[in-house]
Amino acid sequence: MPNLPEKLTGLQAYDPITGSYAVRLDANESYFDLPSVLKAKIADRIEELDFNRYPDPLANETIQAFAAYYGTHANLVTAANGSDELLSLLINCFLAKGSKLVTVSHDFSMYRFYAALSEVETVVVPKTAQLQIDVNALIAACRDADAVIFSNPCNPTSLGLPRNEVIRLLESVSCLVIVDEAYMDFWDESVMDLVTKYENLIVLRTCSKAIGLAAVRMGFAVANPYLTGLLRAAKSPYNCDGVSQAIAATVLRETSLLEQCRTEIIMQTQRLYTAVAELVKRYPSILECVYPTRTNFVFIKTAYAREIFESLAKAGIAVRCFADGLRICAGNRREQTLLLSALEQILQPIG
Ligand code: PMP
Repeated sequence: MPNLPEKLTGLQAYDPITGSYAVRLDANESYFDLPSVLKAKIADRIEELDFNRYPDPLANETIQAFAAYYGTHANLVTAANGSDELLSLLINCFLAKGSKLVTVSHDFSMYRFYAALSEVETVVVPKTAQLQIDVNALIAACRDADAVIFSNPCNPTSLGLPRNEVIRLLESVSCLVIVDEAYMDFWDESVMDLVTKYENLIVLRTCSKAIGLAAVRMGFAVANPYLTGLLRAAKSPYNCDGVSQAIAATVLRETSLLEQCRTEIIMQTQRLYTAVAELVKRYPSILECVYPTRTNFVFIKTAYAREIFESLAKAGIAVRCFADGLRICAGNRREQTLLLSALEQILQPIG
């Protein structure tokens, strides 16, 4: 075997739930597939593509559509192969071996994964007992750090940090501040409009959640022209394929459809929250609490996470299991009914 670094040989592959489940509520995707008229429109667009040509390196049409939808400027936007690629790029290229990255816990696991691969030191600031970000502790940890990253609203807790608190952080630190707003379509406390005000701010967005394009892999970084120039220089030239660019540009222009889906998902998530809160009341010895959600999923704190997760899987329902809880994504009405009746059946015998 070749001599390979331990940071690589010690890696565990990302292990999403595989297999066939009647109900998938584990990956925080949108439960809306694209309507067939829109799929037909996309098929026409794809038919027009010159498949023998490299795609537009900057995905200009797509970043224009993104900028128009979100009310920002395309010259502040970098497109990438999912926001995952941007996380990797930012941690790899904007930080160096031995740099210090501040993260919080709980948060999206990939931040620490990419940091470990790049031999970047992570400083983990624990959240409060209510799983909120402790902004004062974060500010203190950022004093001698090179960057801080967190998701807002948060995956997996579903909680949001209000915009004025993010601004307080921005006003207090000089390191790079990366705010991962993958779920901000479900809340309205974005700081995307502040990227030209704060020279150290980078906001990440994705088409994988509210936009309903997880299959397509399209993510965006929004930052001032200087940071955007660096990101565009550091990325691989043709990081977004032509098919994905065409699809994302087409869908991002469907503003009324996107608005309708977003509103529906928020409503459905609130229904899920209310139903789960009711279960928490009825089974307090099993379910400790459910957190008020700003996302398209709920997080239930329970010491029985593994047992409930396994029973749900047996019933054909995939959710995400953590050491201290379950993260369950909003599904459509039918999926939610199936989930809730399965939960009842699982909780009754334990309770
Ligand atoms: N950030 C957060 C907080 C996420 O939850 C996810 C997806 N699970 C991502 C980034 C990655 O999204 P993408 O599909 O754009 O790579």
